[in-house]
Amino acid sequence: MIVVMKADATDGEINRVIETIESLGYRPHVSRGVERCIIGAIGDERGKSRLHSLEALPGVESVVPILKPYKLASKQVKDGPSRYQIDGVEIGGTRIVVVAGPCSVESRDQILETARAVKAAGASMLRGGAFKPRTSPYSFQGLGEEGLKLLQEAKAETGLPIQTEVMAPEDVELVARYADVIQIGARNVQNFKLLRRVGEFDIPVCLKRGLSTTIEELLMAAEYILSEGNQKVILCERGIRTFETATRNTLDLNAVPVLKHETHLPVIVDPSHGTGHWRYVTPMAQAAVAAGADGLLIEVHPRPHEAFSDGAQSLKFDNFVTLMQRVAAVAEAVGRSV
Ligand code: PEP
Ligand code: MN
Repeated sequence: MIVVMKADATDGEINRVIETIESLGYRPHVSRGVERCIIGAIGDERGKSRLHSLEALPGVESVVPILKPYKLASKQVKDGPSRYQIDGVEIGGTRIVVVAGPCSVESRDQILETARAVKAAGASMLRGGAFKPRTSPYSFQGLGEEGLKLLQEAKAETGLPIQTEVMAPEDVELVARYADVIQIGARNVQNFKLLRRVGEFDIPVCLKRGLSTTIEELLMAAEYILSEGNQKVILCERGIRTFETATRNTLDLNAVPVLKHETHLPVIVDPSHGTGHWRYVTPMAQAAVAAGADGLLIEVHPRPHEAFSDGAQSLKFDNFVTLMQRVAAVAEAVGRSV
């Protein structure tokens, strides 16, 4: 349910509503808009009829059900786009955030070289996996904490905030010590224990759509994080599995306008995993920005043919420079910048 306060409701009246929601066993979620204050009452669906009594409280205009299965992610609870600061980089505003770097952190030289190159080309954040979800248990699994330390070193030199993946609830604390954005990979989008765990932290989470999750399931996964208290979720479209084999996945750019219509959360697009081929990354990055994405996640490697993972879809430095130029042109055409 959401409680819509009258435009002239006082702080005292708002507080009374908050206290009453709590006393009924629900969690209040306050959103103060320009016009009026909206208070979501989040919790067990079954007893929600009790919340109608809130209508009698002073300052309350109406009590209405949240029609979507996702609550905190819905636009009914928060009007206007969410924006977060990521160590000085804003996501959700007019500037497109480009997160670039290798699929995996492989060595000190590799990550430092890449960090310098993507920074020079205009990227706003550095990506790199230290814990890697690999299809085969015999493939490179990532450097673990050593990889996180190398990312930290790259940040210290370039100033680029870090995005890196966490795969297990017991590693969240460790990864959160190094990361500016925690990435939840496609394969873990419905790992509800992991979602709840990252929800306990006050650090932005980039939640990647699963290989076969619907947009609604992605939003419900986001709801797990939001309902634990972490309001800084970034959604990432990274391609879904279809019958098409010319590309690794089918990048579902429909998801961008759909998500923009359904939620206030920022939306980014990963055309690297979305296509699986470096050649298609730049055109799909341009298309993503044209469709309204707030950011891009791009794999870049100094020598893609030597990469431990995802070399085929990784851009060389010069191709990343071209991507940035082409994306900047599209961004300008849609009233944004990189
Ligand atoms: C990645 O970003 O390197 C990754 C493993 O992505 P996904 O979870 O989307 O496959
Ligand atoms: Mn990858």
